[in-house]
Amino acid sequence: MAPSPEGTAGIPHGASAVPSGLAESSTRGDPSTEVLGYFHGVPKERYTDTAGRQARTAAGRTARTALAILNAPRWIELKANSVAHVLAAVIPRPNAPVELRELPEPALEPDSGLLAVELSEVCGTDVYLHQGRLVDTPYPFIPGHVTVGRLEKIRGRLIDIDGRAFREGERVTFLDVHRTCHACYYCLVAKATTRCPHRKVYGITYGLADGLTGGWARKLYIKPGTRCIALGDANAETFMAGGCGLPTALHAVERGQVSLGDTVLILGSGPVGLSALILAAMAGALRVLCIGAPDDRLATARAMGASDVLNFQSAAAADRIAWVRERTGGRGADVTIEATGAPSAVVEAMRFTRDNGRVVVVGQYTDHGETAFNPHVDLNKKHLDVRGCWGSDFSHFERGARIITDPVRGAPWSTLKLTRYGLGQANDALAAVADGKVIKALIDPAR
Ligand SMILES: [Zn+2]
Ligand SMILES: [Zn+2]
Repeated sequence: MAPSPEGTAGIPHGASAVPSGLAESSTRGDPSTEVLGYFHGVPKERYTDTAGRQARTAAGRTARTALAILNAPRWIELKANSVAHVLAAVIPRPNAPVELRELPEPALEPDSGLLAVELSEVCGTDVYLHQGRLVDTPYPFIPGHVTVGRLEKIRGRLIDIDGRAFREGERVTFLDVHRTCHACYYCLVAKATTRCPHRKVYGITYGLADGLTGGWARKLYIKPGTRCIALGDANAETFMAGGCGLPTALHAVERGQVSLGDTVLILGSGPVGLSALILAAMAGALRVLCIGAPDDRLATARAMGASDVLNFQSAAAADRIAWVRERTGGRGADVTIEATGAPSAVVEAMRFTRDNGRVVVVGQYTDHGETAFNPHVDLNKKHLDVRGCWGSDFSHFERGARIITDPVRGAPWSTLKLTRYGLGQANDALAAVADGKVIKALIDPAR
């Protein structure tokens, strides 16, 4: 029996039709277990016949190509027995190394899809989730909350906010927040959908039990009700330069109500701080100051439009306050956005801000402990407005996507240095982000 040539015809992976000729070859000859070809992405050892017997593989073949046929009695039975598997990087529990696992490709529910991941990212939140700093994390889980990819399969209809149906093959990103209910007190009365108790977040509060729900994987399950945005021909890297930091920063700048001519101070020079810097200028700030570290991130902040920068490691607390006052007529910043992850920075943000100014706290998404301040001196007597800023909603994500893909407005993000890591390098990526050795780390599952 001659095995059929590998990769000879274009059956899309998962095609339901029985292609002529191949159906014939699948039933020809000895109905035993020899593999005649391979499904794209299915390791050889996954092939079994309809009785579950391990298939024998033809000598010298690899599972590289797109065409496959197993010498099973019927094509449909072959499909039922050939569950494709997807490579994913998993955080098994807090502080344990990231593991590579092969997980079954999901059966699609009505109005769902399968995304072939192009790029995802490693942000500060992933580092903190790895350290166990968020109580809602359902370990084990696949990290990666903001992701770009191609819709490989759609079952039923996935629609955008204009009611247009997405097509298979389209490139999209999607809001990581899912299942906001629009029926609870927070959704309907408080109008704070980011505090909806029913919301779930891909890569954060969805775990392995929920399927392929993080971007650190070759494929991701687009569950029914997931809000996708078409990216068209936009470069995946261009979009991911904003990544999750951009909508978070957009929300923070919105909470800060920046006015034309304001001086805005950004604490933190990570992806959220850098995006906040660009967006504060876009919102009308005359000058944007940035206090952060290390120096290469501050050089990036300057390239992105910061009026002045200060490395917080090179100046004592009193010197930092003096530095801000020297640049704000002795009063302090009109608006300060804290994007650091350090609780003490929240108190500093209050002290750096002028009386009757605003402080937005966006850098404490995960729990870094307590800090102390003087309510009289730091808050009440200053008549200060301190605002928390939790997560982001579709309005921030959609506007962020439009801004980053705009050739003019999106240009400042192109100066941001991106570093790619494969799934097998996820531990290195987490360490590099934790140590501030890279400005923006991306996960490229094809590497
Ligand atoms: Zn709700
Ligand atoms: Zn993030």
